[in-house]
Amino acid sequence: MAAGNNVRKRVVILGGGFAGINAAMGLAKLPVDITLVDRKNHHTFQPLLYQVALAVLSPAEIAQPIRSILRDHQNIEVLMDEAVSFDLAQKRVRLKTGALLEYDFLIVATGSTHSYFGRDDWAKLAPGLKTVEDATEIRRRVLLAFELAERQTQEAGVHPPLKFIIIGGGPTGVELAGAISDIARLYMARDFRHIDPATAQVEILEGSPAILAAYPPDLQKKAIDQLAHLGVTIRTNAHVTDVQPGYVMVGNERIDCTVTLWAAGVQASPLGKLLGVPLDRRGCVIVDQFLNPPGHPDVFICGDLAHVEENGHQVPGVAQPAMQMGAYAAKHIGRMVARDLGSDGTGLNEPFHYFDKGDMATIGRKAAVANIKWPFKGHWSGFPAWIVWLIIHIFFLIGFRNRLAVFRQWAWTYLTFQDGARLITGSQDLPGWDSEYGIQRDTPVEQQVTPTGTR
Ligand SMILES: Cc1cc2nc3c(=O)[nH]c(=O)nc-3n(C[C@H](O)[C@H](O)[C@H](O)COP(=O)(O)OP(=O)(O)OC[C@H]3O[C@@H](n4cnc5c(N)ncnc54)[C@H](O)[C@@H]3O)c2cc1C
Repeated sequence: MAAGNNVRKRVVILGGGFAGINAAMGLAKLPVDITLVDRKNHHTFQPLLYQVALAVLSPAEIAQPIRSILRDHQNIEVLMDEAVSFDLAQKRVRLKTGALLEYDFLIVATGSTHSYFGRDDWAKLAPGLKTVEDATEIRRRVLLAFELAERQTQEAGVHPPLKFIIIGGGPTGVELAGAISDIARLYMARDFRHIDPATAQVEILEGSPAILAAYPPDLQKKAIDQLAHLGVTIRTNAHVTDVQPGYVMVGNERIDCTVTLWAAGVQASPLGKLLGVPLDRRGCVIVDQFLNPPGHPDVFICGDLAHVEENGHQVPGVAQPAMQMGAYAAKHIGRMVARDLGSDGTGLNEPFHYFDKGDMATIGRKAAVANIKWPFKGHWSGFPAWIVWLIIHIFFLIGFRNRLAVFRQWAWTYLTFQDGARLITGSQDLPGWDSEYGIQRDTPVEQQVTPTGTR
């Protein structure tokens, strides 16, 4: 049974991402008991995942145990478990282990996941980037590609062209492309004897007419120039129609590649569907101005899972709105609790408002584009934008130890051209490669190139 008016209210938070952690922090000061459930034991700072994927940072530098983030708050308990169903009428959530959690208020903040547009079979061939596990898998594939080419050249004298295809030209695709180009040109060069890593090709395939669609045209243009400077090629209006081991198809054209990465589609956490409330076409829960789904003032949907509109536009699925929604839900619950306790319930009519401070994306080790909206307005690009990106990301990382570690690692990488986490863990296979013989299967012989170790 849910608690009555005279006992402390129970708040259940599902998800320990940006929204969930901010909600928990906001609620920690209130006279409520909180249970935060996440299927992982750690909070992931997703904006820096690509740096793990490209071996600049190690996973522990961008992820932190949720339990340790919240350890100082005695009214918060953390459960590592997965929410699997709801009974909104009885105010209950069922967890995968079978436990049943009762609540007075529920915050659902389970984020989003990749969308392969109905082709889930592509996931194994073209991993996306969302979790620490995804990042280490991408790191494995990218580093392994160079290793296999080195071995093949050493044994057979040739290797097929090293080509990295990134499907999707949003911020994640652009950041991955810039970083792969950097590691190939700058960081790997000294480590190989038979191949020249700098000859690796990096290509973005974007289905729409422009990369970075959410950015103003002048910044899109700057991003294209900065990517060109790094040797990254971009194809727009390129609809990928198939992904196979060792190649992708764009219409009837086959593009051979060593590694394919997915940065094209996002859909809401599947948990949204289980709530039995209206969803948009990406599976996001349509909520009102208080972040409640229709008819459920005790349920708050926050972060990427929420479809909130402001001035006719959907609030974007990025970190700032998620953090603000989490903080708003905590504040709103605080007001409801205060009203029930007979004290101050003022502000209950105050709707959620997204305070948009702008967007930014990095392009390689010393360039970025930034559409700054606060504390001043401006379009920045190149090195100054990169410095702003650097400061903001250090500032928002959770935990002083992580901030210090990331700062130290970036400074080291920047000054010495040496990465800190170039480890290959897991299998030695790449789709399309035969690891025993070190050859790329299904690649025409005429496309094999002569050794590039003549630097
Ligand atoms: C590679 C990448 C780069 C990005 N870069 C930027 C950037 O530069 N700037 C920016 O503003 N935004 C960026 N974003 C977007 C930003 O990270 C997200 O908008 C933000 O993380 C959303 O926060 P959230 O709390 O809604 O979800 P998340 O942070 O995704 O957290 C959801 C949590 O819910 C947990 N969970 C999921 N399902 C269940 C379940 N059934 N039961 C229990 N727990 C569950 C997950 O384990 C996770 O911890 C990036 C995202 C990615 C993937």
